[in-house]
Amino acid sequence: MTPIQKLILGLNEEPLVEIASNCKVHHAIINDLNKLVMAAKKDAIDLTIASPFRSFERQQLIWNNKARGLRPIKDADNNVVDTTLLSDEQLLDYILHWSALPGASRHHWGTDMDVYAPSMLSQSLQLEPWEYQTGGPMEQLGDWLDDNLTSYGFFRPYSTFNNGVAIEPWHISHIEQSKPLLEQLNIELIEQVITENDIGLKNSVLAKLESIFNQYIINVGHP
Ligand SMILES: [Zn+2]
Repeated sequence: MTPIQKLILGLNEEPLVEIASNCKVHHAIINDLNKLVMAAKKDAIDLTIASPFRSFERQQLIWNNKARGLRPIKDADNNVVDTTLLSDEQLLDYILHWSALPGASRHHWGTDMDVYAPSMLSQSLQLEPWEYQTGGPMEQLGDWLDDNLTSYGFFRPYSTFNNGVAIEPWHISHIEQSKPLLEQLNIELIEQVITENDIGLKNSVLAKLESIFNQYIINVGHP
């Protein structure tokens, strides 16, 4: 595997820089990220990273906790699902609506992150779409991102629902740096990393990998 392939899969932290405690991003986006944060600050918005880079190992833990019933599974309306009667395929669809397959999270790249504005919160952040929509605590941030993101080289890959991953108004991505990584992500690469690691529902994942790839991994918005 090349260093870029390892980066794509969350297995290479060499291109990343720790810009705050537990907060790593790709070195090539730092300049644009600083400009974005400063521009928000000028408009009295404390744009802050809630979730930056995530390693393969971290995503594997999130995934396995859900796949093995250690964390609740939620439906698209955020209600907890009774999983006892579900097939593995149905369970996979519920998990993939909210959580990326390890090796296929854009958070592996250091080019993508979830953002919020702490000063706008009156209770803890849930990272649910209503918080960023009209009437929600993050509405002003959501509107500001709509108006300004692309001017600073960022976009939202999950701004609309297209029968794949849930809408994530908080998830932003660096256009120029993320594009070549998405282009180099392919089924064989994911198949390799899933096969070689301990992944819950592994056999079902591998059996359905082509449709998972098309429905949940490359099915994203473009700038
Ligand atoms: Zn995200």
